[in-house]
Amino acid sequence: ALHIDNINHNNVYANLTDSFYSIAIPTPVSNPYLISFNTRVANLIGIDFTLNDTDKMIQYFSGNKLIPGSKPIAMSYSGHQFGYYTPQLGDGRAILLTQIKSPNNQTWDLHLKGGGRTAYSRGGDGRAVLRSTIREYLGSEGVAALGIPTTRSLCITGTDDPVYRENVETGAMLIRVAPSHIRFGSFELQYYSKNQYNVKVLADHVIEEHFSIFKNCKNKYSLFFEQVVRRTAVMIADWMSVGYENGVMNTDNMSILGLTIDYGPFGFVEEYDPDWVVNHSDDEGRYSLRNQPSIGLWNLERLSLALSPLDHGSGLFLKNMTNLLADFMNIYNEHYYMNMNKKLGLTIISDYAQEDRDLVDNLLDAIIGVDYTNFFRELSSTDVFVKNIFVKRKEKFSTWVESYKKRLLKEPNSDFEERSQRMKKTNPKYIPRTHAMQTAIEAAQSKNFSIVNDLLNLYQNPYDEHPEYEEYSLPAPKGFKNTLTCSS
Ligand code: AMP
Ligand code: MG
Ligand code: MG
Repeated sequence: ALHIDNINHNNVYANLTDSFYSIAIPTPVSNPYLISFNTRVANLIGIDFTLNDTDKMIQYFSGNKLIPGSKPIAMSYSGHQFGYYTPQLGDGRAILLTQIKSPNNQTWDLHLKGGGRTAYSRGGDGRAVLRSTIREYLGSEGVAALGIPTTRSLCITGTDDPVYRENVETGAMLIRVAPSHIRFGSFELQYYSKNQYNVKVLADHVIEEHFSIFKNCKNKYSLFFEQVVRRTAVMIADWMSVGYENGVMNTDNMSILGLTIDYGPFGFVEEYDPDWVVNHSDDEGRYSLRNQPSIGLWNLERLSLALSPLDHGSGLFLKNMTNLLADFMNIYNEHYYMNMNKKLGLTIISDYAQEDRDLVDNLLDAIIGVDYTNFFRELSSTDVFVKNIFVKRKEKFSTWVESYKKRLLKEPNSDFEERSQRMKKTNPKYIPRTHAMQTAIEAAQSKNFSIVNDLLNLYQNPYDEHPEYEEYSLPAPKGFKNTLTCSS
């Protein structure tokens, strides 16, 4: 690990032409201070926190000072928002400070969220509020710890400069880390600006940087698209199995690497309901829990259109993309049911594949209204699971229990203890719950950052028991109302 002044910069994205970005220098804030620093991500990207003096880090990560060697830019993109094309989006409140090469030769974007206005800010101030910054910080680290591909969060800094929303709020800056922040919408911008050559430039860039094993293949674009389809399907299958709802699955919020990105009005379902809509701005429920797989496919279809100029008239690439899209639901289902069967403690026995899928579907139908996460944790913890679990659909549930018991008899190892150990490693106890994060936010607004750090630790170790923090595993108290919207 290196001192931050000695890190290797590798600004490959900024080496593209300026159709893909605008120079964006962060706007300094007054008296920035550290709110939370995530050593797990510092280790991942090879920055040695102990070598660095905190004041310097605060200056760099608040955007007040540039890390020597950086080339800050705002990335341009467009995208389909709630089904409709919006021609000009881009990083309006985020700045790609620099790309660094970690000691193990991995490239990482250091993205500053809330660093002030950029060329794409439109009417916005380019700032982020403490509340949404804490949610992204805890949410992304929780999602990562559940084994789901995602952008990561390195640190939060704060300032007492006011940020004006509906109310006057505390400003904060997040450092987000990812191998790339290129989105489906990055391709759409070039396609809809009728810049076919740039579609190729961007595709070649992504292949060079992230899928370099394909770069000399004749069908490299098909191989690349296949990866995007596969990764997107797997990511959404992972979301669905933990009950994660993204909230704003616009194509500008879809990573070309299949990472969970742009934590806005996201949430984890508590009282299980496939029609749950976390985002209060989503009146039609377009991005409800159950719609996520089909929206993922719809978004991939938008991407395939943006990539269509790579076909060069032969029709072959278009045909390949059509076939790959047709396979999306199969890939999704395969990964989803594999995850869900693991949650039930089942080992994969291909003879029972359809039976095991039915077992999952029937269970979800029976547990509507039950806390999703705690149900699976309880199922992992007790041999007499029938008695301890409160369900509303009692008859459906007891029918299900009988079929589950029958299925368990077919397991190669029928030992409960062994199964319980396994299940507890796949059914988390601690997931980022809106109301718990709200507690951390309120404390942080009075400059007490200890709950943010406590929750970070819980969410980074989601399968462990933490008896002293039991309260954070509980569902929201009755009457708790989330007010999450796109602008939060
Ligand atoms: P989001 O809903 O976070 O995906 O944002 C959609 C678009 O609005 C992106 O281009 C953002 O960069 C931009 N945006 C959101 N909030 C702000 C803000 N406070 N200032 C400038 N741009 C913003
Ligand atoms: Mg997985
Ligand atoms: Mg976004």
